[in-house]
Amino acid sequence: MEKNFDVIIVGGGVTGTSLLYMLSRYTKIRRVLLLEKYGSMASLNSNSRSNSQTLHFGDIETNYTLDKSKKVKEYAEYLLGYTRNVLDRGESRRIIRKCQKMVLGVGHEEVEALERIYGSGILDIFPGLKRIERREIAKIEPKVIEGRKGNERVLALLSDKGYMVDFGRLAGTFIDKARRYNRGVRVDTGVEVKKARRTNDGYVVHAGGRELISKFVVFATGSYSLHFAKMFGYDENLSILSIGGGFYFSKRMLRGKVYRVQHGHIPFAAIHADPDINNGSVTRFGPTVTVPPVLEKGHLGTLPDYVRSFDIDLQTAISLKRILLNKDIMRIIRRNMSYGLPIVGKGLFLKNEASKIIPTIKAGDLWLDKSTGGIRPQIIDKTKHFLALGEAKIQREGLIFNITPSPGASSCVGSALEDARYISKYLGTDFNEGLFNKEIATKD
Ligand SMILES: Cc1cc2nc3c(=O)[nH]c(=O)nc-3n(C[C@H](O)[C@H](O)[C@H](O)COP(=O)(O)OP(=O)(O)OC[C@H]3O[C@@H](n4cnc5c(N)ncnc54)[C@H](O)[C@@H]3O)c2cc1C
Repeated sequence: MEKNFDVIIVGGGVTGTSLLYMLSRYTKIRRVLLLEKYGSMASLNSNSRSNSQTLHFGDIETNYTLDKSKKVKEYAEYLLGYTRNVLDRGESRRIIRKCQKMVLGVGHEEVEALERIYGSGILDIFPGLKRIERREIAKIEPKVIEGRKGNERVLALLSDKGYMVDFGRLAGTFIDKARRYNRGVRVDTGVEVKKARRTNDGYVVHAGGRELISKFVVFATGSYSLHFAKMFGYDENLSILSIGGGFYFSKRMLRGKVYRVQHGHIPFAAIHADPDINNGSVTRFGPTVTVPPVLEKGHLGTLPDYVRSFDIDLQTAISLKRILLNKDIMRIIRRNMSYGLPIVGKGLFLKNEASKIIPTIKAGDLWLDKSTGGIRPQIIDKTKHFLALGEAKIQREGLIFNITPSPGASSCVGSALEDARYISKYLGTDFNEGLFNKEIATKD
């Protein structure tokens, strides 16, 4: 069995598989191995049952800065480019679909927040974003207005960039295409990487009872990436707060995605409503917010590794204190803690969340599916003593660690581009910018 590789990618979610494709198609790096610890690819956060299936562009995400929106838009367009130009129409249809998408403000404070955003220069980045009032919302998304009090202020920003994506299936296509372009690609499932260490001319990766040798190692292990970075001594002043997220369902009540205004500087989305790409007869509401002490949903065995990633020291303690003293975060956690409770949970979710989007929805319309949802590894920046927005990437001496809360799935092709360029330079080979631009970097 081969044991020498140019690149080993650890993790078979959408981050690791998109890099596998990127290296195979746009570089001459041939000996690439992807290792996934579970029996199938994308079984954690990238799976369509775990996330909200939204291709984030940054137009209706009220917690993004304009700079973050610009970058997320560029990376979302790469993903679109891949699905349009690399996949055939049948494949593409199963993976991505256009849908209506808006962010809804309810009440004075939220409406004012949307007015501010609309006047803040966002139209320079998203000229197709439209400000719509009650009457137009009623035409486009009737259930949002039906039964709503006449004196309740509402405003929405309607996006022209609504897409739902099955990121798990997308991961599958990255592997298929990588194999087509590079016969040297190897993908092993059911192989867990336990540890890795540096040697004089590369790395030794301990996986499935074997020692594999590679010039470069990428940890695309989602919640686990910071754990591995700390194993190599790269602390980077980061820690992780696991934010769990689950979903309530109803029969299909909305035509498209209805996001809500996020309060404060909270780096994850407020509970919203979405269609399901794999089940046209339901509407999903979520993700709810919990703080389980684990790195993977439902896997209690990941608790000790979570404690190591959390890495409690004085700076983490100060950060945690500031996070827990934040009134918006505390309000969200207090409310959300009850949503999973038997009997009362559904009623509280209805009152605080679902009825804000659909005023006429009833408790009997809703059910909680505990098998859905995942863990968002929200990053604590110990220098700022607060939660950071979005993903983090550590690139050092033949190693990359990708920590990927939302919008990690939307940004996977852009992230893979950054990594493939870095790896090519490190290994002294070219990245084919011309071919990438021709195939992927086309504008929406
Ligand atoms: C509730 C929720 C809603 C979300 N909604 C959205 C959304 O609408 N849009 C969006 O863009 N993003 C969303 N996200 C974020 C998105 O799901 C993630 O950013 C994305 O899936 C991360 O992909 P990944 O490949 O980095 O990680 P994962 O999908 O978690 O994959 C990591 C892989 O690494 C493997 N692995 C871990 N450790 C090892 C090891 N030691 N050895 C071998 N393999 C290992 C795991 O088994 C796993 O398959 C959401 C996340 C959640 C939880």
